Amino acid sequence: MLVFDLGSGAVRGMLRSGLDPLAVDRIYFTHFHPDHTVDVVPLLFAMEYGAEEPRTRPLRIAGPAPFLTFWESVRNAWGQWMFAEHTEVAELSRDDAESLELPGCRLSWAPAEHRSESIAYRLDSEYGAFVYAGDTEYSRSVVGLARDADTLLIECSFPDDTPVPGHLTPSDVARIASEAGVRRVVLTHIYPAADKIDLVAEVGRGFGGEVIVAEDGLSLEV
Ligand SMILES: [Zn+2]
Ligand SMILES: [Zn+2]
Repeated sequence: MLVFDLGSGAVRGMLRSGLDPLAVDRIYFTHFHPDHTVDVVPLLFAMEYGAEEPRTRPLRIAGPAPFLTFWESVRNAWGQWMFAEHTEVAELSRDDAESLELPGCRLSWAPAEHRSESIAYRLDSEYGAFVYAGDTEYSRSVVGLARDADTLLIECSFPDDTPVPGHLTPSDVARIASEAGVRRVVLTHIYPAADKIDLVAEVGRGFGGEVIVAEDGLSLEV
């Protein structure tokens, strides 16, 4: 199982959705803010101490440079057990974006506009393409990455009348989605003010495809 980001409650959310957190094989971070990374600690703790058999299958963890510096500081804070023998960490280059062949799909990435390290990810398989934008503001690079994707999972943090740099409003989401020509957008990372408005209608003003507001436990087929 592959996961993008691990915000607070992600491990609990997997359990509630009937997914086994110990089945995670690959973790890809978009950036290092706590709402995208903190649950890596309980996840690795569970892998180390919650499994019936010691794990031998590799766990691959990657993020944009300087991911290795970030990981070193996490290890210094939480301890050596976070670097079990089965764990492999890797740093991805933000500006020389490459792609990786994974079992059954190809993973690629591109810069997002949020933090200096931020990247967005795309998975292509025979079934279609899925893009996860992480945190970003309007970004031509994210538009390029999301070109013709089936599903774009994207943040929609703030309403149009109170925009915040580094994040998206409904009209920004609509612009990215329509310029990229995606089939469907799934909205996430919704701050309280944006949670009070009709996001489906707001995004629908500038985007003709399907719009879904994500909630915990939502399961979709690509
Ligand atoms: Zn962030
Ligand atoms: Zn965030």
